[in-house]
Amino acid sequence: MPESANRLLILASKLGYQTRSFADAARKLGVEVLFGTDRCHRLEDPWADAAIPLHFEDPEQAARDLVAQLASNPPHAVLALGDRPTVTAAFAARAFGLTSNSPEATLNCRSKLRQRAVLRDAHLPVPDFLSFALDESLAALLPRIRFPCVVKPLMLAASQGVIRANNPAEFVAAVARIRALLESPEVQVTREPALDRLLVERYIPGKEFAVEGLLELGRLRVLAIFDKPDPLEGPYFEETIYVTPSRLSEKAQASIANCLQQSVHALGLEHGPLHSEFRVNDAGVWVLEVQPRPIGGLCARALRFGPEKIFLEELLVRHALGLPGSDAPRETDACGVMMIPVPASGVLDAVEGVEEARATPHVTDIQITARLHDPIVAWPEGSSYLGFIFARAERPEEIEAALRTAHARLQFRITPRLPVEHPVTRRVPAAGA
Ligand code: ADP
Repeated sequence: MPESANRLLILASKLGYQTRSFADAARKLGVEVLFGTDRCHRLEDPWADAAIPLHFEDPEQAARDLVAQLASNPPHAVLALGDRPTVTAAFAARAFGLTSNSPEATLNCRSKLRQRAVLRDAHLPVPDFLSFALDESLAALLPRIRFPCVVKPLMLAASQGVIRANNPAEFVAAVARIRALLESPEVQVTREPALDRLLVERYIPGKEFAVEGLLELGRLRVLAIFDKPDPLEGPYFEETIYVTPSRLSEKAQASIANCLQQSVHALGLEHGPLHSEFRVNDAGVWVLEVQPRPIGGLCARALRFGPEKIFLEELLVRHALGLPGSDAPRETDACGVMMIPVPASGVLDAVEGVEEARATPHVTDIQITARLHDPIVAWPEGSSYLGFIFARAERPEEIEAALRTAHARLQFRITPRLPVEHPVTRRVPAAGA
C-alpha cells in the first residue's frame, strides 16, 4: 500500500456497523484506516482488519501499546467511537503529538460520578447525587435519598443499567438488578474500575434533548439540537426518536447551547466531537451528560452537511484530519432517526414489514442491525437497538409521524429464552443478562 498522508486511527470496543460506517466515510476520502479495539483478544484477527488489540480499561498502557505498534506508520488523527475508548484516544493523540482533548478532560467525562462532581463544583445545573459501594448497607443509605431518584452504574453507556426508583422498595430492587448486571460475565470482562459502585441522583422531570457538537480548539459549534419527543420517564431509559431542528423556542435552544459551552469549559474539553444530553423544565436547563465522542449507532447518518450532503461521519473524519469541508453547514431540511427499541429479551427469529415500513412517506432508510437468531436483550440490561429508521422532510412534525408510522409497520418475532441455572454456581442469570 502506498504511504498515506492521511491515516486515521479509529478506537472502538465493537468493530460493528458504527465503526464500518466511519471507516467507509474515511476510505471514500482516500484516507487509510487503522483500528484499535478491546474486542476478544484470543482470536487471531477474525475480522481480517488487522485491529490492534488494546485494553481500554488501562488507557495509558493502551496508548503505549499503540505507540509501539504504530511507530513506523503513526496516525494523523485518532477518533474514539463510544465512551470506553475516549481516554485512550486522548493519551494516544498526545503521544503522537496530535491536537486533541487532554487525557484529564476525557477522564472528567468517563466516570458519571466524576463528571457530576466537576460540573457541580463549577456551579452547573446537575441533579443532586451521591455514590455508594455495593457492599454498603442500603438501610443506612436510605435516609439520605430523596425520591424519585435514578440509580446507575458509573461506567456503562447507552442507558444500560439506568433505573428510576420512586420509593425505597424500588430503590432496593433497582440496586439488586444493577448489581446482577455488573456481576455478569459480559460486564466483568471489561475490567472497568468502579464496577462495585453506583451513583444515585434526583430524578429530573422535563423534556429531554440531545446536542451534537464539534469543538475546534475550544470553540464550540452546535451541529444539531435533537428533540426526544417520547416521554423518557423510566423506569428504564431506552432511547427512541431523535428529531432536529428542535421545536423549542430560539431562546431555550440558546440556553441549552450556553449550558453545553459552560459544561465543556468546566470539563476541560477542547477538540473534536461531542455528544450531550439535557433536560429542560420550569427550573431551567439541566445537564445530564457530555461525552467527547460522536452520537452512537448509525444515528450520525441522520445529519447531512454542505452541498455534497455529506453525513456526519464524513464531516467528523474531515475535521479530525484537517481536511477541507468540515465547516459545511447542516442542510435546512428536518431529519430524524428512531433507535428501534427492544420490546423483550429473547432470540430474534424474524423481522417482518420492512418493505412496508420503508415505503412510509418521508422515510429514507431502515437498517435492521440486530442479527436473526442472535439473542437480544431489553433494557435495562441491554444496550443495543434492533436497528434504525431514518426520515427527512420539511417539518419536524412530519418526521416524528413518519418514524412512528414506519415503526408500527415493523414486526419483530422474539422467542423468550428461559433462564437456565448455572451448573456450578447454581445461579440463575438476571433477566436478560
Ligand atoms: P448513559 O450515559 O448510559 O446514557 P445517562 O446518565 O446519560 O446514562 O442516563 C441515560 C438516560 O437516563 C438519560 O438520557 C435520561 O433519559 C435518563 N436519566 C439519567 N439520569 C437522570 C436523572 N437524574 N433524571 C432524569 N432522567 C435521567
